[in-house]
Amino acid sequence: MRADILAWSLPFLFCAFALCFLLLSRLHSSLRWWSAAFLVAALGFALTVLPTAPGSVLKPTFEDTLFLIALAIANAAFAARAGRRPRWTWLALVVGAGSAGAAGSLAFLDGSVLHEVFSVQTACAALMLLSAIEMRRDPGTLRPLLVGLCGTITMSLGLQNVLLLYASPEDLGVSNWRESPWGFVFQLNGAATGILLALSVILTTVFDVIGRLREESTADALTGALNRRGLEQGVEAMRRRNWPDAALTLVLSDLDHFKLINDRYGHEAGDAVLCGYAALCSGLAGADGLVARIGGEEFAIVVAGRDRTSALELAETVRISARQIRWPAPLTDLSVTASFGVVAFGRDETLFDAIDRADHLLYSAKAEGRDTVVIDIEDPASTPAATQSLAAGTIFAG
Ligand code: GH3
Ligand code: MG
Ligand code: MG
Repeated sequence: MRADILAWSLPFLFCAFALCFLLLSRLHSSLRWWSAAFLVAALGFALTVLPTAPGSVLKPTFEDTLFLIALAIANAAFAARAGRRPRWTWLALVVGAGSAGAAGSLAFLDGSVLHEVFSVQTACAALMLLSAIEMRRDPGTLRPLLVGLCGTITMSLGLQNVLLLYASPEDLGVSNWRESPWGFVFQLNGAATGILLALSVILTTVFDVIGRLREESTADALTGALNRRGLEQGVEAMRRRNWPDAALTLVLSDLDHFKLINDRYGHEAGDAVLCGYAALCSGLAGADGLVARIGGEEFAIVVAGRDRTSALELAETVRISARQIRWPAPLTDLSVTASFGVVAFGRDETLFDAIDRADHLLYSAKAEGRDTVVIDIEDPASTPAATQSLAAGTIFAG
């Protein structure tokens, strides 16, 4: 009776998961594979409900093959998550070997299901092991959960095999397997495995989506640099990391005569210039530096510390490198220049107040003829007189 209730409920449960994955498949293409895997498994469970004639080979082998195909498709889903093509040859070999082993045991051995079950369980364990290996390079935050789950399922299948062989129960044929305690426990284990996999995949997808939304809400869609919100959060994180010396340097830049680039080469070419300039800034800001696009053609770089020489060097490097970028056709004869305002700011000033100050310097740089860096960071090593001469706040370069 218990076996019947379980056997009847599984096809419906797995179909429900398949439908759920199909509905969610807009969130990630791998969910289509999961939907197919659960549908095939549901079909396998549905077949087990139908009576099996004693000595039958075809029906139990077909059921076994369906479960193996379901696990092979699950492996393809794991590969799709990691952005790789499934290893169909390996998967087909394992499914083929498992099915052939099951059919051979039923046809040529003593009619006991022992060797059939052993053969299928071993192939299932091999498929789960391949999935665990596939998941090693998964980009998601819940990778350890999925790798751990695949590994645990592999071991549990292996353990079941050992127990089955050790106990070697007699009188177990294909017609009475499902009603036997062994059949019930194995089916229960299969169901628990499927449910755990489904819940883990749903959880992983939810985490992936939250991560993606968080990234999108802090990134500029065109250049991939941070947006204002991203810069604000990055600065907060930097301040926490650099406690108690939370002084930071802001290099604000605005491309010169950018409107002319748009007018001469078109908006698309202008977009390419913005992306190229953002990439240049990211390359020069260093691993811990932040780069943000905070206006149409206005970029901010924030790095830790308030060292005047390093700040000037960074701004000058960006200025000179921007001019030297080799652009693809039709921009081959283009030389991009930018104007810069550079300030340092501590905990006593908000990022946006610092941007305001840097903006004023930037417009002084524009007034000075563009392609210029204006910096307002005192040099602690300089003499009071020298500091005073800098107090007007500016050094012009370019
Ligand atoms: P200046 O040297 O004074 O900064 O002159 P400018 O031409 O760079 O500045 P202006 O503010 O006159 O023009 C900025 C232009 O940037 C106008 C706008 O069409 C363009 N722009 C803003 N956002 C984008 C974008 O996302 N893509 C492209 N291609 N152009 C953009
Ligand atoms: Mg400009
Ligand atoms: Mg501008």
